[in-house]
Amino acid sequence: MMTLYNTLTRTKETFEPLNDHEVKMYTCGPTVYNHAHIGNLRTYIFEDILRRVLRYNDYKVIHVMNITDVGHLTDDGDNGEDKMEKGSAREGKTAWELAEFYTKAFQRDLADLNILEPMIWCKATDHIPEQITLVQQLIDKGYTYETSDGIYFDTTKLSDYGKLAQLDKQELKAGARIDMGEKHHPHDFALWKFSPHGEKRQMEWDALFAHERKGFPGWHIECSAMATKYLGEQFDIHCGGIDHVPVHHTNEIAQTEAATDIKPWVRFWLHGEFLLINEGRMGKSEGNFLTLQGLRDKKIDPIAFRYFVLQAHYRKQLNFTWDALEAAQHGLENLRDLVANLPENIAVDPALRTQFIDFINDDLNIPEAMALLWIGLKKQIIDLRMIIDFDKVLGLKLHDPERGKVTLTPQVEKMLAERKTAREAGDWLKSDLLRDELKELGYSVEDTSSGQKVKKN
Ligand code: AMP
Ligand code: ZN
Repeated sequence: MMTLYNTLTRTKETFEPLNDHEVKMYTCGPTVYNHAHIGNLRTYIFEDILRRVLRYNDYKVIHVMNITDVGHLTDDGDNGEDKMEKGSAREGKTAWELAEFYTKAFQRDLADLNILEPMIWCKATDHIPEQITLVQQLIDKGYTYETSDGIYFDTTKLSDYGKLAQLDKQELKAGARIDMGEKHHPHDFALWKFSPHGEKRQMEWDALFAHERKGFPGWHIECSAMATKYLGEQFDIHCGGIDHVPVHHTNEIAQTEAATDIKPWVRFWLHGEFLLINEGRMGKSEGNFLTLQGLRDKKIDPIAFRYFVLQAHYRKQLNFTWDALEAAQHGLENLRDLVANLPENIAVDPALRTQFIDFINDDLNIPEAMALLWIGLKKQIIDLRMIIDFDKVLGLKLHDPERGKVTLTPQVEKMLAERKTAREAGDWLKSDLLRDELKELGYSVEDTSSGQKVKKN
């Protein structure tokens, strides 16, 4: 039995998918105008753990991730520049080249972090007709109004608008004091924006409802259109970072449920907490972000960053420091060394596996699961088979058959062979002498039940 914390109900709930053995899961992907920062990557690591835990529980997971390559404005409130157009001007690339470049960089980051690839990648610009259809449906059902710059969703037409974020009346009133432009209500949001008069955008399309004006989709509509296309009108899990709760996911829910009348659209909403730096949010707009490349440049193994992230529960904030990251790198190295040098004939404690399952199934309690692994190794009650099994969830590449292997010179090979013969003949004096000579050459020899084990000093 798995429990997951559902933001929609603010409780840990027993997880049951709609279809018996299959879980349909949508994760909001990156806006590809720049490198993902390691805060973003923390969220993708949490989602990867979720997917691996589901798989460990024998569910088949159908995982979809979008690539936002149009429509995400610098300001979540539907103003500001399109991040793609802005990035394109900054780098002297077309918006299309920019998207291609940063999508590849993102996919490389995921691979280096041992994050499983989604089964379906979907780009917003490949799904413009689906988004137009959805906007048209909302127009036809009377949920929208038009301003001079686009088609907006009227949030007051939906009685349960804001249920995910629990936006209470108080907050709605407070919001009313902000500059709404032509919006009718503070939380209303753009479904479709018209290209500004006299401005030719790189990414713009025609739509029947746009009166001959070119335009582009709002940010939220892409996720509704693509998630529904690939996962159906109702599915199991949708996730993202915690900042998606009040605007992006709230609006995804509003427009989808308004269009289909099926509630809830998604049964479980899961959100990962922030990675902080100097106790403040790490963010692109905050300008305080680090990328995985920045870590690689400092000779940090990306998996050490994964290990660092897994030490905190996904619903807790985590502060980044270089010291903590280096400590994580050492921790990972130690762990891998212990795994590479496991003694033989370990008396495995099968209770470890039961406890491991209890932890991971308790809203992904990975820090406790990792602590258990350490205990198992220190007490020598875990074997390689169980470690490999745990690592299906942790994804830390704990077992490397090549690790600790020593390449031997022909001279050392010969001495080892001589020593073996000496030992077989009970010539301990010669055997010890050879061991000392090997030591001087920089090799230490240990005698085990399966023969001599050699390590480089
Ligand atoms: P974006 O590319 O801005 O759409 O963000 C990609 C993902 O990273 C989203 O799920 C965000 O919620 C998440 N995110 C953004 N900043 C952070 C942070 N500092 N820590 C963790 N996740 C973050
Ligand atoms: Zn989304």
